[in-house]
Amino acid sequence: MVTREGIVIKRMDYKETSKIVFLYTDTGRDSFLIHGANKISSPHLAKTEIANHLKVILQGKGLKIATEIDVLDTYSKSKSDLIKFTYLSHVLEIVNHVAEAEIDHGKLYRFLLKIMDKISHTDNYIPYVYMFEAKLLYLLGLQPELRACVICQETDIAGFSIADGGVVCKNHLPNTKSFPAELVRPFASLYYHDVDKSDAPTFETEVIIGIRKLIDEYYQYHLNLKTKAREMLEKLIGY
Ligand SMILES: [Zn+2]
Repeated sequence: MVTREGIVIKRMDYKETSKIVFLYTDTGRDSFLIHGANKISSPHLAKTEIANHLKVILQGKGLKIATEIDVLDTYSKSKSDLIKFTYLSHVLEIVNHVAEAEIDHGKLYRFLLKIMDKISHTDNYIPYVYMFEAKLLYLLGLQPELRACVICQETDIAGFSIADGGVVCKNHLPNTKSFPAELVRPFASLYYHDVDKSDAPTFETEVIIGIRKLIDEYYQYHLNLKTKAREMLEKLIGY
């Protein structure tokens, strides 16, 4: 018997009536089976919704079975708003993507809980989503250079180069996949933001869109990742 605490990042059907639930915990991904989960009467169905924070008691070897499921939080305020929920799903898809990487899962898990809380309880939640994506790059060892030209260390910055992984001077600005220097400061303010100390900054829509595209391209280029939720968001919000 083992107790696990984590966030539901994925759930899938298993055989006729069962489901496998994937949890993100402070040691990475874990999964368990719930029998009869597809029956409407199953109490486990609502408990194991995506994004729920659970404490479970698991039994068995190999594919474990949940004998007890306690819901610690449902983040209901994130789920009543379609756009907010799609942003949250985007974050959880990214977590699922890195859940078996060799990174500090304890750190990522604690940070994820804080970010989910902010997404749920604030109106200005988009900067927190960006913050999560930016800081995760650091945990993955893919952090962008934000202070001086990646190639020559010149501090007079002309833009941000996706392929070079950071800021560049005017001599090293590539023709493609680059972003204007004006985006570097707001992006850096999110990258270095201490979520425990102050609220997220607010940005003009233009900056919100610019940073979104910068992060998207960075993730696609360096992680080969574009989430399904991100594709859905594009349709919902238009960028
Ligand atoms: Zn340079």
